[in-house]
Amino acid sequence: MLLQISEPGQSLAEKAECKKRVVGIDLGTTNSLVGYVKDATPTVIAAATPDGATSALVPSVVYYAADGSVTVGRAAVAAGRSAPARTVASAKRLIGRGLDDVKAIASSLPYALGGDAQSVHIKIGERAVSPVEVSAEVLRHLRTRAEQALGGPVEGVVITVPAYFDDAQRQATRDAGRLAGLEVLRLLAEPTAAALAYGLDRGSRGTYAVYDLGGGTFDVSILKLVDGVFEVKATGGDSALGGDDIDRAIATAVCGSINAAAVAAARDAKEALTDAESASFAVAADVSPTGAAITRTLSRSDVAGWIAPLLDKTARAARRVLKDADLAADQLDGVILVGGSTRSPMVRDFVRALFGREPLCDIDPDQVVALGAAVQAEVLGGGVQQVVLLDVVPLSLGVEMMGGVVEKLIHRNTTIPCGANQTFTTYADNQTGFDIHIVQGERETASACRSLARFALRGIPPMVAGMGRVEITFMIDADGLLNVSAKEINTGIEASIAVKPSYGLSDEQVEQMLVDSFEYAEQDLHDRNVAVERIEAERILAATKRAIELDDGLLTDDVRAAAAVAMAHLEGVCGGSDYLAIRNGVAALDLATKPFAQARMNRALDASMRGKRLDDVEQNVNS
Ligand code: ADP
Ligand code: MG
Repeated sequence: MLLQISEPGQSLAEKAECKKRVVGIDLGTTNSLVGYVKDATPTVIAAATPDGATSALVPSVVYYAADGSVTVGRAAVAAGRSAPARTVASAKRLIGRGLDDVKAIASSLPYALGGDAQSVHIKIGERAVSPVEVSAEVLRHLRTRAEQALGGPVEGVVITVPAYFDDAQRQATRDAGRLAGLEVLRLLAEPTAAALAYGLDRGSRGTYAVYDLGGGTFDVSILKLVDGVFEVKATGGDSALGGDDIDRAIATAVCGSINAAAVAAARDAKEALTDAESASFAVAADVSPTGAAITRTLSRSDVAGWIAPLLDKTARAARRVLKDADLAADQLDGVILVGGSTRSPMVRDFVRALFGREPLCDIDPDQVVALGAAVQAEVLGGGVQQVVLLDVVPLSLGVEMMGGVVEKLIHRNTTIPCGANQTFTTYADNQTGFDIHIVQGERETASACRSLARFALRGIPPMVAGMGRVEITFMIDADGLLNVSAKEINTGIEASIAVKPSYGLSDEQVEQMLVDSFEYAEQDLHDRNVAVERIEAERILAATKRAIELDDGLLTDDVRAAAAVAMAHLEGVCGGSDYLAIRNGVAALDLATKPFAQARMNRALDASMRGKRLDDVEQNVNS
């Protein structure tokens, strides 16, 4: 979503002067592109391919030769056929992730992985390269291409990322840009970029679905434009579903078993079917998975049948984001097609039926994200009016409180940039520090959420429990990076942390956490209630015991007996899981000790009045 803010007092000439040479980059899992705004028209920058054609697509593939040289794009794909272990594709799946995060996909990669829980690296011979370095090679290649076309150094870039990318993945993508010598003006959500390319931000209002089926991933998002502000309302998809799966499904259906040659033949046939009603599938005997030559003519309807289960998966994800955004398909104002796989008429037919409308596909779905990034770069580079872009937080963010329960400060799908603050009180007497544990997730208990960071606020002077008041502030900037600060209100003591975790969370994990949060919602709520009531009970029991020790003389026999009964009862129920019984026990103890509390208060008042004139006392009481 966009917010148009014009900058008053700046002439067009001044604007032209401060205009920077900027580009937009779609850093894709399979293919990457670079674009810029040329004479007010966004365009992608193409280059000649080895087969004599021109193409704007650069395969996101990097080949590391044994002699140390590095090759990017089509040449790397070609080199990779003979040296798959030295060729890295799909680095986007690994960026900003730890080994555990990528366990599920590690076995399907042709290269070996190393690393730890914080970050993965790829083993190339003796070398270890990080996914950030691989992405930086792709970015450097695009930068060179852009500098040749623009005739000078690139001064700023907008790079697109999937809407669901978390802090670590965004940070790693930014780092890749920096490593490639680029100034990253902003990271932009891919669906938002697509909508920008269509100029949908210029409408007065509207709600759009973005259906993005690429090479290895499927993303679906809901965008909403209200009064010039364009928001990502919800995102979903499947990180292991894309054109590659379509290729495998076709190859399996035709050959019975698959190998690289069969998959390549399937891909050729699939892409040919986009422009023709039928296409031939051919594998020679020497590379065939069956040992015999296979030739067959495939029709669109053959393929539509084979890939139906894959497309059904996308339908389920699409329905789910509609539900998340609280929308019915007929409330949408448009559906945008993104990703190479949506060029297929079989996929288009499916999307049309799914949403019950003709999808927007006038702009090449391969290029639409890069074109939108170029539009945004132009804006940030000073070429057009200032625009503020907003995105959403994929999972709720909160802090752990006593008893392990989570207090959410920022809820899932909140528009960024955003901020929230909340005040917490100290739990124990004379507490001089406050540990702040930041977690992300939908569950009610901290242990079931993902731990993002911990930090401490120290040096608070000793105070009675409940007197220390700590204000915690969460701020998420336009790139989705979180900053947390804490301030003790009485003293002004402050501490803060920028949350830049060095590893990410897979979207399966995000998905699982969401499923869990629904499944366990009732149990979680109950556990949370028990934890909250138990803490309160323990606090009251301790305070009462201490007061009795100090001021036994203020107790009458009746009150002492009633308090003892109430305390014994509360101690009994406190260990159990009936939170209403604990809450009632607390109330009963309060009631039983009320005369005692009053006696203590009266005595404190007497003490403060002693030796003072009456008007002093009145002042004290009133202040
Ligand atoms: P990513 O966003 O993952 O980098 P792309 O959007 O570039 O991926 O999509 C790549 C996928 O698009 C590949 O699976 C490729 O086979 C598929 N694709 C490209 N052109 C066509 C076409 N004409 N018909 C069908 N699929 C296509
Ligand atoms: Mg893409």
